[in-house]
Amino acid sequence: MDLDFKRVVIKLSGEALSGGVGHGLHDETIEKICKSVKDVYDLGIQICIVVGGGNFWRGRSSENIERSTSDHMGMLATIINSLRLQATLENLGIPTRVQTAINVHEVAEPFIKRKAERHLEKGRIVIFGAGTGMPYFSTDTTAALRAAEMNADVILLGKTGTDGVYDCDPNKFDNAKKFDELTYIEILNRGLGIMDATATSLCMDNNIPLVVFGIDDPENLVRVAKGEKVGTIVRGK
Ligand code: UDP
Repeated sequence: MDLDFKRVVIKLSGEALSGGVGHGLHDETIEKICKSVKDVYDLGIQICIVVGGGNFWRGRSSENIERSTSDHMGMLATIINSLRLQATLENLGIPTRVQTAINVHEVAEPFIKRKAERHLEKGRIVIFGAGTGMPYFSTDTTAALRAAEMNADVILLGKTGTDGVYDCDPNKFDNAKKFDELTYIEILNRGLGIMDATATSLCMDNNIPLVVFGIDDPENLVRVAKGEKVGTIVRGK
């Protein structure tokens, strides 16, 4: 892989923390993921993490709750996950800061780009919680936004239940073909559901490379960071 890995944004879905159950937090799984994050950190790579909240709540999945209230619930869920990851990373000896897009002063710092940069320079991992702070957006879009703001070299998108981007659902079609490389415009044109369209467009417009890989085996994260050919690379052009 010809990508630079000096500063990365790792995007983890909430589901990735649930250990295959889909909801809640699974200690062993989180421990494994954080150990892999530590291996990447030990390579000298600056790490930002954006974590989702789907293991607790997804705004769009409720029919009875007004959407922005429901989305605020989802954003608060991402803060729980951020604190959970921070706790485990710090147990592993890695200084970590959580910055949130919704202010919760007693538990985390607000998102301040310059402060986040300083943390990275001082060897701290920065976890961005509460998504963008705005309803109707996703944490994939947050990963794209923070990657652009923080001048990250690449987004590492860990997916559960797949090991890359396919032309159709590999769980339904035996002849599904996995892409080694792809462009964002192809994702949009083919309607591939690997990220929502807002996140995909933001990555495309800002020319941010993305590696989509399977997080069910957390060691894939280290393989990707070492430049091994794992998953699918998505580029702007
Ligand atoms: N969310 C939001 N704005 C954001 C990011 C997230 O409103 O900028 C809400 C939204 O309701 C979403 C939930 O938080 O469903 C959890 O985020 P996401 O679905 O991206 O989590 P993941 O599927 O990655 O676990």
